[in-house]
Amino acid sequence: MSFFKTFKSGQIAPASGVYAVMHSTPHRRIERVVYVKGSRFQRCRTCPLGVLYRLEEASIPVSSITAADARFAHQAPVEEAL
Ligand SMILES: [Zn+2]
Repeated sequence: MSFFKTFKSGQIAPASGVYAVMHSTPHRRIERVVYVKGSRFQRCRTCPLGVLYRLEEASIPVSSITAADARFAHQAPVEEAL
């Protein structure tokens, strides 16, 4: 990969793959989530400045990602704000 591609919450995922999720306020660790091409990056209630998503692994065959997997990834437990 020649350079890092980052996207903001609310944008559409340009490719299926693993994205590093970076919140603008440090209330969560960086995590990795699978997004399917065409899905929308989720916003975060705790981060008024939004969330950055960085494409880490775009080489996952689309056929290996099921809708159920994507739905599970989007339902990662949300930590309560301290
Ligand atoms: Zn957040």
